[in-house]
Amino acid sequence: AETWQQVPLAPPDSIFKLTAAFKADTYEKKVNLGVGAYRDDNSKPWVLPVVKKATQLLLTDDTLDHEYLPILGLPEYTAAAARLILGPDSPAIQENRVVSAQTISGTGANHLGALFLSRFYGFNGDKKIYLSNPTWANHHAIFRNVGIEPVDYPYYDPKTIGLDFDGFINTLKAAPERSVFLLHACAHNPTGVDPTPEQWKGIADVILERKHYAFFDCAYQGFASGDLDKDAFAVRYFVSRGVPSLVCQSFAKNAGLYGERVGALHVVSKDLETANRIKSQLSVLQRSEISNPPSHGARLITLILNDGALFEEWKRDISTMANRIIAMRKELHRLLTEELRTPGNWDHIINQIGMFSFTGINPEQSQALVEKAHVYLTGNGRISMAGLNSHNIRYFAENLDKVVR
Ligand code: PLP
Repeated sequence: AETWQQVPLAPPDSIFKLTAAFKADTYEKKVNLGVGAYRDDNSKPWVLPVVKKATQLLLTDDTLDHEYLPILGLPEYTAAAARLILGPDSPAIQENRVVSAQTISGTGANHLGALFLSRFYGFNGDKKIYLSNPTWANHHAIFRNVGIEPVDYPYYDPKTIGLDFDGFINTLKAAPERSVFLLHACAHNPTGVDPTPEQWKGIADVILERKHYAFFDCAYQGFASGDLDKDAFAVRYFVSRGVPSLVCQSFAKNAGLYGERVGALHVVSKDLETANRIKSQLSVLQRSEISNPPSHGARLITLILNDGALFEEWKRDISTMANRIIAMRKELHRLLTEELRTPGNWDHIINQIGMFSFTGINPEQSQALVEKAHVYLTGNGRISMAGLNSHNIRYFAENLDKVVR
């Protein structure tokens, strides 16, 4: 009994805490804007119709069993997933220099990518990763867990509620050569602020000049703009320019498969020979971590990506989610600027993209929304657009108006 006496109590995860407080609240009009998962217009989780169809197909397939998958996952899945993010005509795929591993969703991809870097990347001095300020909070812990120290790079500018492009570029220039930069491929979490294609070009120029390494995290392909190709622009552009890159991919959001943990890590290498060596090392790492990944979600995605009709249906489902979120942005903007005439500029609400929006309100105003209006959001003023719907958006807009006035 003495052995564990020294274990200190860890603080609860802040999002988990927020959800618990929301659940305990009995107020009828309460709103949960903390959730990082899509909700339909009735605040309910949405099982994509295409996923229901694919599930039926799996249920009636007598050839399937519960044997282990290969260590790096279902080969048809990882190949299709690589084509989805890198593009069907990707020269890197054609030249067989992409190594792909099936992972425990995007979190697992980040972890395996971080672990691989920690072992094999020739760090210039200390092991460091440059993370956008702010970023998905889990990034810090994931890299620290494998002995890589996070360093912030400027990203969000509170004055413009937009991108601090100059600060970002200056840090890219000042960082030691061969530094690793984590980049959100699209729909930056938590700000919703993405570089424009023109800005991505500028970022790629400096990364090449300084011989940096791009660690892409792509958790929202298709979910951001509604278009799978558009949301893959940055990744495909970097690969086409020959920027050394790896890509973390998740099907949690764009296929609504959160709990199935379907993801992949793709390492784009120089040539087939290098790819083979990377593959052998990823297999060794994956073996000791999880032995082999789970099969169900990977089978679903394989069906959807490799069947023309199902793929078209998936794209429609993605549009349904993305368009609902874009409609909520427009409506919130309209309510604030036209109806309520809320003080301040709210254009960032429609300029930002993806699941999240940084409203620009301060911690006191965020707290007032929680305590006075039963609207649950994180202290940094981030709201999940997926938590808004036709029933609660006016209530939210009115209360946001009250706290900023
Ligand atoms: N990366 C970012 C930026 C995210 O926002 C998320 C989810 O919120 C993830 C990765 C990983 O999510 P999952 O492990 O569910 O795929």
